[in-house]
Amino acid sequence: MMTLALQRLQNTFGYDSFRPPQDQVIEALLAGRDALVLMPTGGGKSLCYQLPALVRDGVGVVVSPLIALMEDQVRALSLLGIRAAFLNSTLDTESAWQVEGALRKGELDLLYIAPERLLQPRTLELLHHCRIALFAIDEAHCVSQWGHDFRPEYLKLSALHEQFPAVPRIALTATADARTRQEIIHRLGLEQAEVFVRGFDRPNIRYRITQKQNARSQLKRFLETEHPNDAGIVYCLSRRKVEETAQWLSDQGWTALPYHAGLSAEVRQAHQHRFLTEEGVVVVATIAFGMGIDKPNVRFVAHLDLPKSVEAYYQETGRAGRDGEPADAWMVYGLQDVIFLRQMLEGSDAGPEQKRIERQRLEAMLGLCEITTCRRQSLLAYFGESEHPPCGNCDTCLDPVETWDGTEAARKALSAVYRTGQRFGVSYVIDVLLGKTTEKVTANGHDRLSTFGIGTDLDLKAWRSLFRQLVARGLLEVDTEGYGALRLSAACRPLLKGEVCLELRQDKRQSGGRRRQVSTDQRLTLPQRELWEALRGLRRELAEQQDVPPYVIFHDATLLEMVQRQPGSLGQLAQVSGVGKSKLERYGDAFLEVLQAHRGDAADL
Ligand code: ADP
Ligand code: ZN
Repeated sequence: MMTLALQRLQNTFGYDSFRPPQDQVIEALLAGRDALVLMPTGGGKSLCYQLPALVRDGVGVVVSPLIALMEDQVRALSLLGIRAAFLNSTLDTESAWQVEGALRKGELDLLYIAPERLLQPRTLELLHHCRIALFAIDEAHCVSQWGHDFRPEYLKLSALHEQFPAVPRIALTATADARTRQEIIHRLGLEQAEVFVRGFDRPNIRYRITQKQNARSQLKRFLETEHPNDAGIVYCLSRRKVEETAQWLSDQGWTALPYHAGLSAEVRQAHQHRFLTEEGVVVVATIAFGMGIDKPNVRFVAHLDLPKSVEAYYQETGRAGRDGEPADAWMVYGLQDVIFLRQMLEGSDAGPEQKRIERQRLEAMLGLCEITTCRRQSLLAYFGESEHPPCGNCDTCLDPVETWDGTEAARKALSAVYRTGQRFGVSYVIDVLLGKTTEKVTANGHDRLSTFGIGTDLDLKAWRSLFRQLVARGLLEVDTEGYGALRLSAACRPLLKGEVCLELRQDKRQSGGRRRQVSTDQRLTLPQRELWEALRGLRRELAEQQDVPPYVIFHDATLLEMVQRQPGSLGQLAQVSGVGKSKLERYGDAFLEVLQAHRGDAADL
């Protein structure tokens, strides 16, 4: 059976070998066992269920919440010569009947289905009359009630096990900390499943977190110097900021499109479509965008606001560089972000238990921002991989952070907060520390305090940096209502009593400017670049003709390999990774023609 699987991998998908642990997962399913697969984005999860579905008798039923993606997935599979279809609410009755007919006649290899559709009694009834190869539950973390992608219908998927006990099940996700992992196993009844975890590391992603000064101009500089022609995603927290940022980027000459839940379904659909089918589009979005975006050549993900948890950060940044080529995860963050997220959390009407969990998650996120050691190490440790060496591909590795002893300054700050009555926000307390006789300060009589003017050894920026770090570390609390008044927390006691010292980050003026990433086409020689452009041109043409995203025809990596190997025959072309039988038949001649013409050009030189 495994030999059969390997043959299908080579013939149908055009790949040489499995990427571990794909082979083990496939083996388990072929033997009829259940599997839980945790793999990073771009790790190759789809093959884990697609291949056994092809090799085993019957149809593979894939449950996914990502309705918008199903049509594309099915089309991409069809181009590989795989018989696939989908069932969800976007389908009209007529087409749904056709799919159901094909299913009944056993004419499908793969069926993508929305969970609510699957759980309808008539669908379950229909499936009882079919031969089913396996059930794949994609985005399995949606079953977690604490997670940000919670889907209530996912809780009912345990019914599959009860109704089809003989059919193997595979659950897959790219994000699951230990807690979520347990929840998936428990809620989906996967206690017997073999668990496969592939390291979460995404070595091609460069992580950078910079202090926010002027977010827009920082973003502009980042895009201009590093990604002038690349596709990417810019995340903001609010709809308004999404709109404004998209508008501003457009004014600056970028193709930038907004995406958030407040836009109509048509507009969102249209913007997503352009992002997938055109090259070099920047989408500015709230977190509503991106789940299941499987565009492989997203070259950067930029955050203008802080995500609520490391999981969210990891998932959002994980949308960059699925093709394994260098990509950037870039973020600016500042004092206001910390205050805002803390207020939002404390002010929400979640129950105390959920608040406690969310607070922990935010702590971890803030910790990631403030650490002075390798970001990747910290990120991976969060997901349970604690042995990773410093990575050499994050800002703190590339550009080590200096620290300073902030013990004394922190004591002054805490004291100023205390003596002004714990009723004021950061700016006011800094005024007092700097000895500014503003109207408000004098009116309150705070110019007579012993802390008035004791902080003139630091400037405004240094104080803001210090307060940010005190709030991030939970030494100061922020009022949830009103203007963000600061209060001492119990955690600052040891510091005030002189029992501990405080190492703080020395913020950089501007980081990330040097050590630039080099984009794909900058790495090619001139003639190679011409061929690369010609191949991309052909790909675009074919994609437009068939109304699919260019990468569905061939990935960038496949085109790059063509540039490097310059195949001269169908046989040689078939050797290129990503060129399977069906695509060779469909596109082989057209690509050979371009390669041939280019060889002619080169000979003329
Ligand atoms: P995930 O769902 O885990 O994010 P995908 O299944 O979309 O990842 O796979 C990511 C990319 O890796 C895809 O372009 C896929 O074609 C490619 N890929 C997967 N498995 C292999 C393999 N064994 N050899 C080469 N490429 C692979
Ligand atoms: Zn690092």
